[in-house]
Amino acid sequence: MAILNKITPQEAINLEHKYGAHNYHPLPVVLSKGDGVFVWDVEGNRYYDFLSAYSSVNQGHCHPSIVKAMTEQAQTLTLTSRAFHNDQLGPYEEFVTKYFGFDKVLPMNTGAEAVETALKIARKWSYEVKGIPENEAQIIVCENNFHGRTTTIISFSNDPVARDNFGPFTSGFIKIPYDDSAALEETLKNNSTIAAFLVEPIQGEAGVYVPSEGYLAKAKALCEAHNVLFIADEVQTGIARTGRLLATCGNCSCENKDCSGTPEVKPDVLILGKALSGGVYPVSAVLANDSIMNVITPGSHGSTFGGNPIAAAVALAALKVVQDEDLTENAYRLGNLFRASLNTYIEASTIVKSVRGKGLLNAILIDDHEESDTAWNICLKLRDNGLLAKPTHGNIIRFAPPLVMSEAQLLDCVDIIIRTLKDFEKS
Ligand SMILES: *Cc1c(COP(=O)(O)O)cnc(C)c1O
Repeated sequence: MAILNKITPQEAINLEHKYGAHNYHPLPVVLSKGDGVFVWDVEGNRYYDFLSAYSSVNQGHCHPSIVKAMTEQAQTLTLTSRAFHNDQLGPYEEFVTKYFGFDKVLPMNTGAEAVETALKIARKWSYEVKGIPENEAQIIVCENNFHGRTTTIISFSNDPVARDNFGPFTSGFIKIPYDDSAALEETLKNNSTIAAFLVEPIQGEAGVYVPSEGYLAKAKALCEAHNVLFIADEVQTGIARTGRLLATCGNCSCENKDCSGTPEVKPDVLILGKALSGGVYPVSAVLANDSIMNVITPGSHGSTFGGNPIAAAVALAALKVVQDEDLTENAYRLGNLFRASLNTYIEASTIVKSVRGKGLLNAILIDDHEESDTAWNICLKLRDNGLLAKPTHGNIIRFAPPLVMSEAQLLDCVDIIIRTLKDFEKS
């Protein structure tokens, strides 16, 4: 450990480069500590974390009550497999289902696994309940989606980097444009073998694309009319991130008085991950009511680690933090402040075209082409100025800090961001 503690940034980067597969292109910063909205590098420099591990660390780094739940459980019982019951799973399952308003939950570990699970449930439901002839079920997905990295999931991605040379792919998916209810209606009308519509309430990885007002409600109504399951992938948007407990915000227990607009929809199948554990442990979940979830029978689906005692204890603690600390409300309020502050600057900016998002899931669009390295260079400069963010799709920078941020901290960050962007203004 002594050696690890003394590692220099360059040594750490070199080791990863030499011994690790090159499946990521990280910003050059080597982190060794986190606390709340801050992370520190190996040399002791402090940064605001404006990525939050892709919206996993909503509750802030190393939240004391989540860490306590994890360490206590780790010293008591870690894994039993589901061959036996454990005393943590039931209480967590009761809490998570009541919190989000569903009859049942199926616990998994990663987001991709939860998406896979939802697809399997939807297919099985379509054969056994809806009555689609076997092996004919189709699932509608959206262009520019991101749902994870398994072979089936990349089968319906249209990102060439994620797909190329990983075929043959899984069939049974129909891709339509995002935020296009006419296309959805058309597809539902012309196909009698549709099991489900899988959608992100906001497309996060694609660059924080917020659909037009009412799109999700319209999509849900169309699905209902055609007896098709509406599956919301809220792995990134869920758990207070967008200023609502869920971005779809159906019949949830969200008590956010400022919650803007009318609640949109209640998904038939809800997929959660990332912040479900506050970023301390891989925990994901699929929620649905009995009429759907009961197609799952013993042996038909599973995971050795899914629903393990640590995961259950950690997720329960992580959700209680969201509730106790009013993170939904805080994300809503600070998100409005963030976009208002940036919009004032953007009016006269030659380098930033726009800011978009909901709650504390936001992105700025840099005025340069997708292949330019401007956004990357801005992120390097933000790092030098004490704030970590990462470009997505070349010219978009996502801003998603932990939701435990204070207003003073947010204004400090706005100051860093604007000061940095000013260095890149075209003269
Ligand atoms: C991150 C993400 C996933 C995949 O989660 P992993 O834990 O990385 O497998 C799925 N869907 C969405 C919307 C995500 O943002």
